[in-house]
Amino acid sequence: MPASKSLRRLGLTTAALVAAVFFFLVATLPPNPVSISLDNVDPALRARTVSGAYHVHTSRSDGAADKASVAAAAARAGQQFVIVTDHGDATRTPDPPAYLSGVLCIDAVEISTAHGHYVALDLPAAPYPLAGEPAAVVEDVKRLGGFGLVAHPDHPKPELSWTEWDEPVDGIEWLNADVEWRNESRLRLLRVLFDYLVRPGPALASVFDRPERTFVHWDGLEAVRPVVGLAAADAHGAGSNQREEGEAPSFNAGPGYEASFRSLSNRVLIERPLSGEPREDARLILDGIRQGRVYSVIDAISKDVVLARDETGRFGLASAALAVQIATSGSLSRPRLELHTARAPGDPPVPWVIGNWSGNRQASTPPSNGIPNMTSGERFKLTSEWRVEKDPVSSGSASGAEAGVTLGYQLAAGRRASQFVAAVADLDPSVSFNMIAFRARSERPMRVSVQVRLLPDDSRWVRSVYLDSSARDVALSLRDFRPAEGGAGGVPDASRARSILFVVDLVNARPGDAGTFAVENLRILR
Ligand SMILES: [Zn+2]
Ligand SMILES: [Zn+2]
Repeated sequence: MPASKSLRRLGLTTAALVAAVFFFLVATLPPNPVSISLDNVDPALRARTVSGAYHVHTSRSDGAADKASVAAAAARAGQQFVIVTDHGDATRTPDPPAYLSGVLCIDAVEISTAHGHYVALDLPAAPYPLAGEPAAVVEDVKRLGGFGLVAHPDHPKPELSWTEWDEPVDGIEWLNADVEWRNESRLRLLRVLFDYLVRPGPALASVFDRPERTFVHWDGLEAVRPVVGLAAADAHGAGSNQREEGEAPSFNAGPGYEASFRSLSNRVLIERPLSGEPREDARLILDGIRQGRVYSVIDAISKDVVLARDETGRFGLASAALAVQIATSGSLSRPRLELHTARAPGDPPVPWVIGNWSGNRQASTPPSNGIPNMTSGERFKLTSEWRVEKDPVSSGSASGAEAGVTLGYQLAAGRRASQFVAAVADLDPSVSFNMIAFRARSERPMRVSVQVRLLPDDSRWVRSVYLDSSARDVALSLRDFRPAEGGAGGVPDASRARSILFVVDLVNARPGDAGTFAVENLRILR
Protein backbone atom coordinates (compact mmCIF):
# COMPACT_ATOMS: atom_id res chain seq x y z
CA MET A 1 0.00 0.00 0.00
CA PRO A 2 1.67 3.17 -1.18
CA ALA A 3 0.07 5.37 1.49
CA SER A 4 1.43 3.32 4.39
CA LYS A 5 4.77 2.97 2.63
CA SER A 6 5.20 6.72 2.27
CA LEU A 7 4.03 7.10 5.86
CA ARG A 8 6.69 4.64 6.95
CA ARG A 9 9.28 6.49 4.88
CA LEU A 10 8.24 9.75 6.50
CA GLY A 11 8.58 8.05 9.89
CA LEU A 12 12.06 6.82 9.04
CA THR A 13 13.11 10.25 7.78
CA THR A 14 11.83 11.88 10.96
CA ALA A 15 13.63 9.32 13.11
CA ALA A 16 16.84 9.90 11.14
CA LEU A 17 16.45 13.65 11.54
CA VAL A 18 15.83 13.38 15.27
CA ALA A 19 18.86 11.11 15.60
CA ALA A 20 20.99 13.55 13.61
CA VAL A 21 19.88 16.49 15.74
CA PHE A 22 20.49 14.46 18.88
CA PHE A 23 24.00 13.45 17.79
CA PHE A 24 24.72 17.04 16.79
CA LEU A 25 23.59 18.26 20.21
CA VAL A 26 25.65 15.62 21.99
CA ALA A 27 28.70 16.35 19.84
CA THR A 28 28.46 20.06 20.61
CA LEU A 29 27.83 19.78 24.34
CA PRO A 30 29.87 22.16 26.47
CA PRO A 31 33.04 20.23 27.38
CA ASN A 32 33.44 18.50 30.70
CA PRO A 33 35.76 20.23 33.16
CA VAL A 34 39.44 19.49 32.53
CA SER A 35 41.18 17.68 35.32
CA ILE A 36 44.72 18.72 36.12
CA SER A 37 47.01 17.08 38.64
CA LEU A 38 47.67 19.18 41.74
CA ASP A 39 50.19 16.67 43.12
CA ASN A 40 53.07 19.10 42.83
CA VAL A 41 51.37 21.84 44.80
CA ASP A 42 52.69 22.53 48.29
CA PRO A 43 50.40 20.48 50.61
CA ALA A 44 50.49 23.21 53.26
CA LEU A 45 49.16 25.70 50.73
CA ARG A 46 46.44 23.30 49.64
CA ALA A 47 45.41 22.75 53.26
CA ARG A 48 45.03 26.50 53.66
CA THR A 49 42.95 26.89 50.49
CA VAL A 50 39.24 26.29 51.00
CA SER A 51 36.59 26.28 48.31
CA GLY A 52 33.04 27.42 48.77
CA ALA A 53 29.82 28.78 47.35
CA TYR A 54 28.81 32.34 48.06
CA HIS A 55 25.31 33.88 47.70
CA VAL A 56 22.83 31.07 48.25
CA HIS A 57 19.12 31.22 49.09
CA THR A 58 17.33 28.58 51.14
CA SER A 59 13.63 28.06 51.83
CA ARG A 60 13.98 30.68 54.55
CA SER A 61 13.59 33.18 51.69
CA ASP A 62 13.00 32.29 48.04
CA GLY A 63 15.17 29.17 47.73
CA ALA A 64 13.76 25.70 47.10
CA ALA A 65 15.37 23.71 49.93
CA ASP A 66 16.44 24.02 53.54
CA LYS A 67 19.98 24.56 54.69
CA ALA A 68 20.68 20.86 55.31
CA SER A 69 19.79 19.97 51.70
CA VAL A 70 21.80 22.90 50.39
CA ALA A 71 24.82 21.73 52.41
CA ALA A 72 24.39 18.18 51.10
CA ALA A 73 24.36 19.51 47.51
CA ALA A 74 27.51 21.52 48.23
CA ALA A 75 29.20 18.42 49.64
CA ARG A 76 28.37 16.45 46.46
CA ALA A 77 29.86 19.28 44.41
CA GLY A 78 33.06 19.16 46.47
CA GLN A 79 32.62 22.49 48.22
CA GLN A 80 33.84 23.05 51.78
CA PHE A 81 31.71 26.02 52.80
CA VAL A 82 28.49 27.75 51.80
CA ILE A 83 27.63 31.36 52.55
CA VAL A 84 23.84 31.49 52.86
CA THR A 85 22.37 34.88 51.98
CA ASP A 86 18.63 34.75 52.44
CA HIS A 87 16.73 37.98 51.84
CA GLY A 88 16.09 39.96 55.00
CA ASP A 89 16.39 43.27 56.81
CA ALA A 90 19.23 42.07 59.08
CA THR A 91 17.16 42.14 62.29
CA ARG A 92 17.19 38.35 62.55
CA THR A 93 20.05 37.00 64.67
CA PRO A 94 22.21 35.02 62.23
CA ASP A 95 22.46 31.27 62.76
CA PRO A 96 25.77 30.33 64.32
CA PRO A 97 28.18 28.69 61.84
CA ALA A 98 27.64 24.94 61.64
CA TYR A 99 29.01 21.94 59.76
CA LEU A 100 26.26 20.09 57.87
CA SER A 101 27.24 17.15 55.65
CA GLY A 102 30.82 18.22 56.32
CA VAL A 103 30.19 21.64 54.76
CA LEU A 104 30.61 24.76 56.87
CA CYS A 105 27.41 26.83 56.60
CA ILE A 106 27.90 30.53 57.28
CA ASP A 107 24.78 32.63 57.67
CA ALA A 108 24.60 36.08 56.06
CA VAL A 109 21.86 38.29 54.65
CA GLU A 110 20.90 39.93 51.35
CA ILE A 111 19.39 43.32 52.09
CA SER A 112 17.06 45.09 49.64
CA THR A 113 17.87 48.79 49.42
CA ALA A 114 15.86 51.33 47.46
CA HIS A 115 18.35 50.94 44.59
CA GLY A 116 19.71 47.42 44.50
CA HIS A 117 20.67 44.56 46.78
CA TYR A 118 23.51 44.55 49.28
CA VAL A 119 24.86 41.35 50.86
CA ALA A 120 26.18 41.71 54.41
CA LEU A 121 28.59 39.11 55.79
CA ASP A 122 29.79 38.88 59.37
CA LEU A 123 26.96 41.10 60.61
CA PRO A 124 25.28 40.77 64.03
CA ALA A 125 21.52 41.33 64.32
CA ALA A 126 20.76 44.95 63.50
CA PRO A 127 18.85 47.02 66.10
CA TYR A 128 16.34 48.19 63.46
CA PRO A 129 15.51 47.06 59.90
CA LEU A 130 18.24 47.91 57.41
CA ALA A 131 16.61 49.30 54.28
CA GLY A 132 16.04 52.48 52.33
CA GLU A 133 18.72 54.50 50.62
CA PRO A 134 21.79 52.47 49.64
CA ALA A 135 24.00 55.02 51.39
CA ALA A 136 22.17 54.35 54.66
CA VAL A 137 22.46 50.58 54.35
CA VAL A 138 26.16 50.74 53.43
CA GLU A 139 26.80 53.01 56.42
CA ASP A 140 24.81 50.80 58.83
CA VAL A 141 26.54 47.58 57.73
CA LYS A 142 29.89 49.28 58.28
CA ARG A 143 28.93 50.68 61.68
CA LEU A 144 27.68 47.27 62.84
CA GLY A 145 30.99 45.73 61.86
CA GLY A 146 29.75 43.78 58.83
CA PHE A 147 31.30 43.37 55.40
CA GLY A 148 29.04 44.49 52.56
CA LEU A 149 29.04 43.47 48.90
CA VAL A 150 27.05 44.91 46.02
CA ALA A 151 24.93 42.03 44.71
CA HIS A 152 24.32 41.62 40.97
CA PRO A 153 25.50 45.20 40.34
CA ASP A 154 24.42 45.29 36.70
CA HIS A 155 21.20 43.35 36.89
CA PRO A 156 19.10 44.00 33.76
CA LYS A 157 16.11 44.85 35.97
CA PRO A 158 16.74 48.52 36.92
CA GLU A 159 15.27 48.09 40.42
CA LEU A 160 17.83 45.35 41.14
CA SER A 161 20.88 47.10 39.71
CA TRP A 162 23.16 49.26 41.84
CA THR A 163 23.24 53.00 41.22
CA GLU A 164 25.26 54.45 44.09
CA TRP A 165 28.84 53.98 42.97
CA ASP A 166 30.26 56.64 45.30
CA GLU A 167 29.41 54.68 48.44
CA PRO A 168 32.27 53.03 50.34
CA VAL A 169 31.23 49.42 49.75
CA ASP A 170 33.54 46.60 50.83
CA GLY A 171 32.95 44.23 47.96
CA ILE A 172 31.21 43.54 44.69
CA GLU A 173 29.97 40.47 42.86
CA TRP A 174 32.13 40.53 39.73
CA LEU A 175 29.99 37.68 38.39
CA ASN A 176 26.46 36.62 39.29
CA ALA A 177 25.23 33.35 37.81
CA ASP A 178 21.58 34.38 38.15
CA VAL A 179 22.24 37.41 35.92
CA GLU A 180 24.45 35.87 33.25
CA TRP A 181 21.70 33.88 31.48
CA ARG A 182 19.45 36.88 31.12
CA ASN A 183 21.10 38.30 27.99
CA GLU A 184 20.83 35.02 26.04
CA SER A 185 18.24 34.37 23.31
CA ARG A 186 15.38 31.94 23.92
CA LEU A 187 16.80 29.55 21.37
CA ARG A 188 20.14 29.65 23.17
CA LEU A 189 18.45 29.00 26.51
CA LEU A 190 16.60 26.05 25.01
CA ARG A 191 19.98 24.68 24.00
CA VAL A 192 21.31 25.30 27.50
CA LEU A 193 18.35 23.38 28.88
CA PHE A 194 19.30 20.35 26.81
CA ASP A 195 22.95 20.68 27.86
CA TYR A 196 21.85 21.05 31.46
CA LEU A 197 20.16 17.65 31.40
CA VAL A 198 23.42 16.04 30.31
CA ARG A 199 26.16 18.25 31.84
CA PRO A 200 24.62 20.56 34.43
CA GLY A 201 27.67 22.51 35.64
CA PRO A 202 29.21 23.22 32.22
CA ALA A 203 25.76 24.07 30.84
CA LEU A 204 25.28 26.76 33.47
CA ALA A 205 28.74 28.17 32.83
CA SER A 206 28.14 28.20 29.07
CA VAL A 207 26.14 31.43 29.43
CA PHE A 208 28.87 33.24 31.41
CA ASP A 209 30.62 36.20 29.80
CA ARG A 210 33.21 38.58 31.16
CA PRO A 211 30.86 41.25 32.55
CA GLU A 212 32.69 44.31 31.23
CA ARG A 213 30.39 46.90 32.80
CA THR A 214 30.86 45.37 36.21
CA PHE A 215 34.64 45.35 35.79
CA VAL A 216 34.50 49.08 34.94
CA HIS A 217 32.56 49.66 38.17
CA TRP A 218 34.92 47.47 40.17
CA ASP A 219 37.99 49.27 38.81
CA GLY A 220 36.36 52.60 39.60
CA LEU A 221 35.77 51.55 43.21
CA GLU A 222 39.28 50.17 43.59
CA ALA A 223 40.83 53.41 42.41
CA VAL A 224 39.79 54.75 45.83
CA ARG A 225 40.03 51.76 48.20
CA PRO A 226 40.46 47.99 48.04
CA VAL A 227 37.18 46.31 47.11
CA VAL A 228 36.85 42.52 47.18
CA GLY A 229 35.28 40.75 44.20
CA LEU A 230 33.45 37.43 44.60
CA ALA A 231 31.68 35.17 42.12
CA ALA A 232 28.06 34.72 43.19
CA ALA A 233 26.11 31.53 42.61
CA ASP A 234 22.89 33.35 43.57
CA ALA A 235 21.51 29.83 43.80
CA HIS A 236 17.82 29.31 44.50
CA GLY A 237 17.64 25.59 43.70
CA ALA A 238 14.92 23.87 41.72
CA GLY A 239 11.55 22.72 42.94
CA SER A 240 8.64 24.09 44.88
CA ASN A 241 9.30 26.66 47.49
CA GLN A 242 7.66 26.43 50.90
CA ARG A 243 6.54 30.00 51.47
CA GLU A 244 5.08 31.37 54.62
CA GLU A 245 1.89 29.81 55.82
CA GLY A 246 -1.16 30.88 53.85
CA GLU A 247 0.89 31.88 50.84
CA ALA A 248 0.65 29.79 47.69
CA PRO A 249 3.85 27.79 47.14
CA SER A 250 5.88 29.09 44.22
CA PHE A 251 8.03 27.01 41.91
CA ASN A 252 11.67 27.66 41.15
CA ALA A 253 12.46 26.56 37.61
CA GLY A 254 16.11 27.56 37.92
CA PRO A 255 19.10 25.24 38.12
CA GLY A 256 19.52 22.86 41.04
CA TYR A 257 21.89 23.70 43.88
CA GLU A 258 24.42 21.03 42.99
CA ALA A 259 24.71 22.26 39.40
CA SER A 260 25.20 25.83 40.64
CA PHE A 261 27.90 24.67 43.03
CA ARG A 262 29.65 22.82 40.20
CA SER A 263 29.74 25.86 37.93
CA LEU A 264 31.77 28.33 40.02
CA SER A 265 33.32 28.80 43.45
CA ASN A 266 35.43 31.09 45.58
CA ARG A 267 38.73 29.94 47.09
CA VAL A 268 39.80 31.55 50.33
CA LEU A 269 43.40 31.41 51.46
CA ILE A 270 43.06 31.07 55.24
CA GLU A 271 45.69 31.69 57.93
CA ARG A 272 45.81 28.08 59.07
CA PRO A 273 43.98 24.89 58.09
CA LEU A 274 40.38 24.37 59.18
CA SER A 275 40.08 22.87 62.67
CA GLY A 276 36.54 21.46 62.50
CA GLU A 277 35.33 23.96 65.09
CA PRO A 278 32.64 25.89 63.17
CA ARG A 279 32.97 29.34 64.77
CA GLU A 280 36.75 29.33 64.52
CA ASP A 281 36.65 28.09 60.92
CA ALA A 282 34.03 30.64 59.89
CA ARG A 283 36.26 33.34 61.39
CA LEU A 284 39.19 32.16 59.25
CA ILE A 285 37.09 32.22 56.08
CA LEU A 286 35.45 35.58 56.77
CA ASP A 287 38.79 37.15 57.67
CA GLY A 288 40.27 35.78 54.46
CA ILE A 289 37.47 37.37 52.42
CA ARG A 290 37.79 40.67 54.29
CA GLN A 291 41.50 40.75 53.50
CA GLY A 292 41.00 39.96 49.82
CA ARG A 293 42.77 36.61 50.21
CA VAL A 294 40.21 35.10 47.87
CA TYR A 295 39.91 34.22 44.19
CA SER A 296 37.08 32.96 42.03
CA VAL A 297 37.26 29.92 39.78
CA ILE A 298 34.91 28.83 37.02
CA ASP A 299 34.92 25.18 38.11
CA ALA A 300 33.05 24.15 34.98
CA ILE A 301 36.21 24.93 32.98
CA SER A 302 38.46 23.24 35.53
CA LYS A 303 38.40 23.27 39.29
CA ASP A 304 42.04 22.27 39.52
CA VAL A 305 43.95 25.46 40.21
CA VAL A 306 45.77 26.78 43.24
CA LEU A 307 47.07 30.31 43.67
CA ALA A 308 49.66 31.51 46.15
CA ARG A 309 50.10 35.11 47.27
CA ASP A 310 53.38 36.93 47.59
CA GLU A 311 54.29 39.41 50.31
CA THR A 312 52.97 42.34 48.25
CA GLY A 313 49.54 40.75 48.19
CA ARG A 314 49.62 39.62 44.56
CA PHE A 315 48.31 36.23 43.62
CA GLY A 316 50.30 33.98 41.31
CA LEU A 317 49.76 30.53 39.87
CA ALA A 318 51.01 27.75 42.16
CA SER A 319 49.80 24.79 40.13
CA ALA A 320 50.39 23.49 36.64
CA ALA A 321 47.56 24.73 34.52
CA LEU A 322 45.67 24.76 31.30
CA ALA A 323 47.27 26.78 28.55
CA VAL A 324 46.49 30.13 30.09
CA GLN A 325 46.98 33.75 29.30
CA ILE A 326 47.85 35.73 32.36
CA ALA A 327 46.41 39.21 32.47
CA THR A 328 46.30 41.93 35.06
CA SER A 329 43.33 44.14 35.72
CA GLY A 330 42.38 46.51 38.48
CA SER A 331 44.36 49.59 39.41
CA LEU A 332 48.14 50.03 39.21
CA SER A 333 48.51 50.03 42.97
CA ARG A 334 46.11 47.12 43.44
CA PRO A 335 46.58 44.77 40.49
CA ARG A 336 44.58 41.59 40.26
CA LEU A 337 45.32 38.41 38.40
CA GLU A 338 43.13 37.09 35.60
CA LEU A 339 43.67 33.68 34.03
CA HIS A 340 42.14 33.23 30.60
CA THR A 341 41.82 30.05 28.62
CA ALA A 342 40.64 29.28 25.12
CA ARG A 343 38.22 26.79 26.67
CA ALA A 344 36.24 29.55 28.35
CA PRO A 345 32.71 30.23 27.15
CA GLY A 346 31.33 33.69 26.53
CA ASP A 347 31.74 36.80 24.48
CA PRO A 348 33.96 38.26 25.73
CA PRO A 349 35.14 35.01 27.33
CA VAL A 350 34.66 34.73 31.05
CA PRO A 351 37.99 34.59 32.92
CA TRP A 352 38.69 31.10 34.28
CA VAL A 353 40.21 32.57 37.44
CA ILE A 354 39.92 36.07 38.94
CA GLY A 355 42.23 36.97 41.80
CA ASN A 356 41.86 39.79 44.27
CA TRP A 357 44.48 42.22 45.41
CA SER A 358 45.25 40.98 48.91
CA GLY A 359 47.83 43.45 50.14
CA ASN A 360 47.80 45.35 53.40
CA ARG A 361 44.52 47.01 54.19
CA GLN A 362 44.60 50.05 56.42
CA ALA A 363 41.96 50.23 59.09
CA SER A 364 39.02 51.78 57.33
CA THR A 365 38.36 55.38 58.25
CA PRO A 366 34.82 56.08 59.43
CA PRO A 367 32.65 57.85 56.86
CA SER A 368 32.94 61.61 57.18
CA ASN A 369 29.90 63.73 56.50
CA GLY A 370 31.98 66.87 56.04
CA ILE A 371 30.47 68.45 59.15
CA PRO A 372 30.89 72.20 58.87
CA ASN A 373 31.91 74.33 61.80
CA MET A 374 29.08 74.04 64.32
CA THR A 375 28.94 77.80 64.81
CA SER A 376 28.37 78.45 61.12
CA GLY A 377 25.06 78.63 59.32
CA GLU A 378 21.91 80.51 60.19
CA ARG A 379 18.60 79.67 61.78
CA PHE A 380 15.90 78.09 59.70
CA LYS A 381 13.07 80.57 59.19
CA LEU A 382 10.06 78.56 60.29
CA THR A 383 6.62 79.94 59.49
CA SER A 384 4.74 77.55 61.77
CA GLU A 385 4.99 75.77 65.10
CA TRP A 386 6.24 72.20 65.15
CA ARG A 387 3.36 69.75 64.77
CA VAL A 388 2.87 66.02 64.41
CA GLU A 389 1.80 64.29 61.22
CA LYS A 390 1.04 60.60 61.44
CA ASP A 391 -1.05 57.73 60.20
CA PRO A 392 -4.50 57.33 61.83
CA VAL A 393 -3.50 54.72 64.42
CA SER A 394 0.03 55.69 65.52
CA SER A 395 0.60 58.45 68.04
CA GLY A 396 3.19 61.12 68.72
CA SER A 397 3.92 64.41 70.40
CA ALA A 398 6.23 67.17 69.26
CA SER A 399 7.57 70.02 71.35
CA GLY A 400 10.10 72.56 70.23
CA ALA A 401 11.09 76.00 69.21
CA GLU A 402 12.66 77.36 66.03
CA ALA A 403 16.00 75.76 66.55
CA GLY A 404 14.87 72.29 67.42
CA VAL A 405 12.22 69.74 68.21
CA THR A 406 11.73 66.68 70.38
CA LEU A 407 9.47 63.96 69.02
CA GLY A 408 7.96 61.14 71.02
CA TYR A 409 6.53 58.48 68.74
CA GLN A 410 4.60 55.24 69.08
CA LEU A 411 4.06 53.38 65.81
CA ALA A 412 0.86 51.33 65.91
CA ALA A 413 1.58 47.65 66.61
CA GLY A 414 0.26 44.80 64.52
CA ARG A 415 0.04 44.69 60.74
CA ARG A 416 2.21 46.82 58.51
CA ALA A 417 -0.08 49.63 57.37
CA SER A 418 2.27 52.47 56.40
CA GLN A 419 2.69 53.53 60.02
CA PHE A 420 4.62 56.78 60.48
CA VAL A 421 5.03 59.64 62.92
CA ALA A 422 6.68 62.92 61.92
CA ALA A 423 7.61 66.24 63.45
CA VAL A 424 6.82 68.89 60.85
CA ALA A 425 7.35 72.64 60.51
CA ASP A 426 6.76 74.94 57.57
CA LEU A 427 9.49 76.99 55.94
CA ASP A 428 9.72 80.41 54.38
CA PRO A 429 10.23 79.47 50.73
CA SER A 430 12.01 82.74 49.98
CA VAL A 431 15.03 81.54 51.99
CA SER A 432 17.23 79.33 49.85
CA PHE A 433 19.80 76.88 51.18
CA ASN A 434 22.13 74.06 50.11
CA MET A 435 22.61 72.27 53.39
CA ILE A 436 20.69 71.40 56.53
CA ALA A 437 22.68 71.03 59.73
CA PHE A 438 21.67 70.06 63.25
CA ARG A 439 22.67 68.18 66.37
CA ALA A 440 20.56 65.21 67.36
CA ARG A 441 20.27 62.22 69.64
CA SER A 442 17.79 59.46 70.36
CA GLU A 443 17.06 57.08 73.24
CA ARG A 444 18.28 54.07 71.32
CA PRO A 445 19.89 53.34 67.94
CA MET A 446 17.53 54.30 65.13
CA ARG A 447 17.27 56.00 61.77
CA VAL A 448 15.31 59.20 61.33
CA SER A 449 14.27 60.22 57.86
CA VAL A 450 14.93 63.91 57.27
CA GLN A 451 12.57 65.10 54.56
CA VAL A 452 11.92 68.26 52.60
CA ARG A 453 8.44 68.75 51.19
CA LEU A 454 8.21 70.87 48.06
CA LEU A 455 5.62 73.16 46.49
CA PRO A 456 3.40 72.79 44.57
CA ASP A 457 2.77 69.05 44.56
CA ASP A 458 3.97 68.14 48.08
CA SER A 459 6.65 65.85 46.62
CA ARG A 460 9.09 64.76 49.31
CA TRP A 461 12.86 64.30 49.22
CA VAL A 462 14.41 62.10 51.86
CA ARG A 463 17.72 61.33 53.52
CA SER A 464 17.93 59.22 56.65
CA VAL A 465 20.40 59.75 59.46
CA TYR A 466 21.58 57.42 62.19
CA LEU A 467 21.00 58.53 65.78
CA ASP A 468 21.78 57.05 69.16
CA SER A 469 22.17 58.20 72.74
CA SER A 470 25.30 60.25 72.09
CA ALA A 471 24.59 63.61 70.47
CA ARG A 472 25.95 63.88 66.97
CA ASP A 473 26.37 66.72 64.52
CA VAL A 474 24.77 66.11 61.17
CA ALA A 475 25.12 68.11 57.97
CA LEU A 476 23.13 67.05 54.94
CA SER A 477 23.69 68.46 51.49
CA LEU A 478 20.57 68.71 49.37
CA ARG A 479 22.52 66.69 46.80
CA ASP A 480 22.29 63.72 49.18
CA PHE A 481 18.49 63.70 49.19
CA ARG A 482 16.54 61.26 47.04
CA PRO A 483 12.94 61.45 45.84
CA ALA A 484 10.65 59.59 48.27
CA GLU A 485 8.74 58.14 45.36
CA GLY A 486 11.82 56.46 43.92
CA GLY A 487 14.16 57.51 41.15
CA ALA A 488 17.78 58.30 41.78
CA GLY A 489 18.61 61.55 40.03
CA GLY A 490 18.28 65.25 40.63
CA VAL A 491 18.50 67.67 43.52
CA PRO A 492 15.48 69.16 45.33
CA ASP A 493 14.81 72.81 44.54
CA ALA A 494 15.18 74.56 47.90
CA SER A 495 13.29 77.59 46.63
CA ARG A 496 10.18 75.40 46.57
CA ALA A 497 10.71 73.94 50.05
CA ARG A 498 7.43 74.18 51.96
CA SER A 499 8.16 72.08 55.07
CA ILE A 500 10.85 70.19 56.86
CA LEU A 501 10.01 66.82 58.43
CA PHE A 502 11.74 64.44 60.82
CA VAL A 503 10.02 61.11 60.20
CA VAL A 504 9.96 57.65 61.74
CA ASP A 505 8.35 55.14 59.38
CA LEU A 506 8.48 51.47 58.45
CA VAL A 507 11.59 51.84 56.28
CA ASN A 508 13.84 51.59 59.35
CA ALA A 509 11.37 50.82 62.14
CA ARG A 510 8.83 48.13 62.94
CA PRO A 511 5.16 48.29 63.90
CA GLY A 512 4.99 48.82 67.66
CA ASP A 513 8.32 50.65 67.90
CA ALA A 514 8.29 53.60 70.26
CA GLY A 515 10.86 56.14 71.40
CA THR A 516 12.01 59.72 71.50
CA PHE A 517 14.54 61.74 69.59
CA ALA A 518 15.65 65.33 69.88
CA VAL A 519 16.94 67.73 67.24
CA GLU A 520 18.60 70.99 68.23
CA ASN A 521 20.64 73.79 66.70
CA LEU A 522 18.82 73.33 63.39
CA ARG A 523 20.45 75.53 60.76
CA ILE A 524 20.77 76.08 57.07
CA LEU A 525 23.92 76.69 55.09
CA ARG A 526 24.13 78.20 51.66
ZN1 LIG B 1 19.38 39.90 44.87
ZN1 LIG C 1 20.14 36.65 45.83
